[in-house]
Amino acid sequence: MLSFNVIPTGPLMVNCTIIYNDKNCIIVDPGGSIEKIIGFLEEKGVVPEVLINTHGHFDHIGAVFELKNRFRIPFYMSRKDEFLLRQASLHASMFGLPPVVSPDVDFDLSENVRIENTVANVLIIETPGHTPGGISFYVKELNLLITGDTLFAGSVGRTDFPYSDFNELKESILKLYRLNDNTIVIPGHGEFTTIGDEKRHNHFVRVV
Ligand SMILES: [Zn+2]
Repeated sequence: MLSFNVIPTGPLMVNCTIIYNDKNCIIVDPGGSIEKIIGFLEEKGVVPEVLINTHGHFDHIGAVFELKNRFRIPFYMSRKDEFLLRQASLHASMFGLPPVVSPDVDFDLSENVRIENTVANVLIIETPGHTPGGISFYVKELNLLITGDTLFAGSVGRTDFPYSDFNELKESILKLYRLNDNTIVIPGHGEFTTIGDEKRHNHFVRVV
């Protein structure tokens, strides 16, 4: 049976989501804390098939390089965020954090691409605004949406970076609001929410 688990990882507590069955898993946004991630995989006895990221910010990629090499698995992300991978260590240093080894992107994710032939069928929804290559992942079987730093419980992602755009972010969130109200939202940081709750209560982008 398909399940998911969320582990806060790295110094900025990025929500790393692991979607798994009894054999394999997909890892989303492993921000760091590799020992916690490996511990979970061993506990469940699951082998990762692919690493996928919502965007290229340093705090979301901390464990990608190491996991990629350890399990010899590919890394998928939007190539529109590749420039951020190159700046990862610089951005980490601005937070007083150690350098990050940036991974190579093996496959470019874009609108309506489906990740298939893995443990779960994952639909790619482009959600730019926080970063140009921002992506949300929708897993129909779990009624689950992983939004990265696009949409949070009661908040939205930062758009004060030179490459960010609030109007674009708003359009992205309105696109996500078309999903079923019961859809579970796992943001990049903090608590879970649902599409219905955000549509009604999110002060930044509200529709009802
Ligand atoms: Zn971010």
